[in-house]
Amino acid sequence: MPFGLLKYGLSKTYPAERHFPLARDLKPSYDVVIIGGGGHALATAYYLSRDYGITNVAILEKGYLAGGNTARNTAIIRSNYLTPEGVRFYDTSVKLYQDLSQDLDYNILYSERGHFTLAHTDAAIRTSRWRAEVNKHLGVDSELIWPDEIHKLCPVLNMSEDVRYPILGALYHPPGSIARHDAVAWGYGRGATRRGVEIHQLTEVTEILQESGKVKGVVTNRGTVYANKVLQATAGSSSLVAKLAGFKLPIRTIPLQACVSLPVKPFLDQIIVSGSLHVYISQSSRGELVMGGSTDPYGVYSTRSTLDFKEGLLGHMLELLPFLGEMKLNRQWAGMADMTPDFSPCMGLTPLENYYIDSGWGTWGFKATPVCGLTMSYTVANNKPHELIEPFRLSRFEEMKQVGEKGAASVGH
Ligand SMILES: Cc1cc2nc3c(=O)[nH]c(=O)nc-3n(C[C@H](O)[C@H](O)[C@H](O)COP(=O)(O)OP(=O)(O)OC[C@H]3O[C@@H](n4cnc5c(N)ncnc54)[C@H](O)[C@@H]3O)c2cc1C
Repeated sequence: MPFGLLKYGLSKTYPAERHFPLARDLKPSYDVVIIGGGGHALATAYYLSRDYGITNVAILEKGYLAGGNTARNTAIIRSNYLTPEGVRFYDTSVKLYQDLSQDLDYNILYSERGHFTLAHTDAAIRTSRWRAEVNKHLGVDSELIWPDEIHKLCPVLNMSEDVRYPILGALYHPPGSIARHDAVAWGYGRGATRRGVEIHQLTEVTEILQESGKVKGVVTNRGTVYANKVLQATAGSSSLVAKLAGFKLPIRTIPLQACVSLPVKPFLDQIIVSGSLHVYISQSSRGELVMGGSTDPYGVYSTRSTLDFKEGLLGHMLELLPFLGEMKLNRQWAGMADMTPDFSPCMGLTPLENYYIDSGWGTWGFKATPVCGLTMSYTVANNKPHELIEPFRLSRFEEMKQVGEKGAASVGH
């Protein structure tokens, strides 16, 4: 339980301290510069300062803090992946999430809901069984369940057989959760800045300085900053920033959209995903239905949302929850998804010495925020990849050692 509110109530000094000190002038040099100010950057800075005593760190964010994909995601957390490498990695993250409010002394509204991946075809049943076996083998709570049990656990779902895609079964993952995405970023940011990390908003990195194959610093719209080590954590722009550093990432960037309804009384406790219908839905603590679908089928750097997405998503949603017909939509938005060929991230060392990447976060990176912070801080501090991210090294593509997670994606891409 976070004690922040209690401490605030008992405090004799008001107002409470600012979450983050205002941006100061940039220093000429830092031990570590982190490009991007999303959840992954903030978590890495937090663990760098907490676990390694590295506090001379600057986070450089071109927009505002956590205003990229961290602000735009649908906040689903789970570890029911398909490969042992993926399951181990995301399970570490789920475990960190479970204690994160306490660790950060900041309420992230972590809420365990149970995650259902609906299967509407025999092929989906086969994949669900496969995932359940891998999950159980690695100690992750996950099982294949049938329509009567689905109905018992989630009575609002339309279980009729008289529809285009009847529900034949589901992969049920009880630890599946949601959390308040902004709070995750703010909690990590507060923890990092309290230890001396600097956050600079409106600071865009435009050039990466290097000498003899080693990174030397970065050029920004506010001047040049030297650094011993540089981490790029720029989901949605990973290829563009890697290009500045002189190497290529196997990433295709495409828009991913989502929307929320007006708030209603709580009726949906679970997180429901249907790969065949290309929809997923949960209900936030404010009562809004949070809904998303597949990525848009074209590569473009744009966060504009489309009518086409809304029409497709809501039409399919009504097949699962027909009583939502009168529900009013409140907001719709888009973020940028950096898709890798195997649907796993690209993390660790790069061809440029002392330059590290945390990239390839596609549609699945919010759940990985704590484990990315933990493993990237280790990697940066020790200049060697943490064992959990070793399988996600950039060179795996030329070694033909991909970590195929397409079968565990929430919706088709
Ligand atoms: C609609 C949608 C729904 C999603 N739903 C889920 C979900 O339910 N569960 C899940 O696990 N994941 C989900 N994701 C994916 C998740 O949002 C991302 O993978 C995750 O937020 C990535 O976090 P990050 O900190 O790496 O990146 P971001 O939060 O995107 O931060 C990167 C930052 O880098 C900054 N930047 C870029 N270039 C530069 C530069 N040159 N100089 C300085 N700064 C720069 C950007 O402004 C940005 O703020 C979803 C994504 C979207 C778009």
